Amino acid sequence: MIRTKDIPLRTKKLIIQEAAGLCGFCGEIDVATLEFHHIHGKSVPDPHSQENLIYVCKNCHGKITAGQISEADVVLQKRILIYKGNPNAKTAVGARILNFIGGVNTGTIANEVHFHGKSSKKQVPTPPGSIGADAIKRNYLKHLIDRYHEFAKAEKGESYKYVIFYQAIKRSYGAKWDMIPLHLFEDACAYIQSRIDKTVLGKNRKAHGQGNYSSFLDYYEKYVSRENS
Ligand SMILES: [Zn+2]
Repeated sequence: MIRTKDIPLRTKKLIIQEAAGLCGFCGEIDVATLEFHHIHGKSVPDPHSQENLIYVCKNCHGKITAGQISEADVVLQKRILIYKGNPNAKTAVGARILNFIGGVNTGTIANEVHFHGKSSKKQVPTPPGSIGADAIKRNYLKHLIDRYHEFAKAEKGESYKYVIFYQAIKRSYGAKWDMIPLHLFEDACAYIQSRIDKTVLGKNRKAHGQGNYSSFLDYYEKYVSRENS
């Protein structure tokens, strides 16, 4: 019998990285439920190759085993994960399209990515490993930036210049906000949150026990429920 522990550590890391640490299907983040699925089973010549593995949660794994998610869908999703991790690896599969409307992904799986609405300026996919390459984290960081602008504008009035805060982020991280490496995501969140908390409005709200922004987990849950609705 072939067990998960037979998968080389390096391959496991690659698979997790490819999936941005989330279930390849539903976006589940709880590592306790995440596992490796062998796309074409374990009887193929090289069962533990990167090509034959996908990162899924127990729930989705169950659906695959029960046939509720077909092997073809698994193969397609795998190719999308590869594509999303490498914008140059655009391969011709199906006609499914991932739509970003106002920064929110309204599709589930895709081989093409289209941006509509407020985020239409962002046409070029950000490189793998950057915050911009991870839709949920990107949107959460943007949510914090927008909140900062809102509070700072309330304080400074019409003369408020949006560009100054973007420049401050760039100075702190050496990169435009969505090009910041993913491993600095929590740091960037903490930085922007502290800036929000230091605004006059932020201090007032805090003093009255009002929150200034959603936590990433709360935001994530709302995001996932929108995706599923
Ligand atoms: Zn799942």
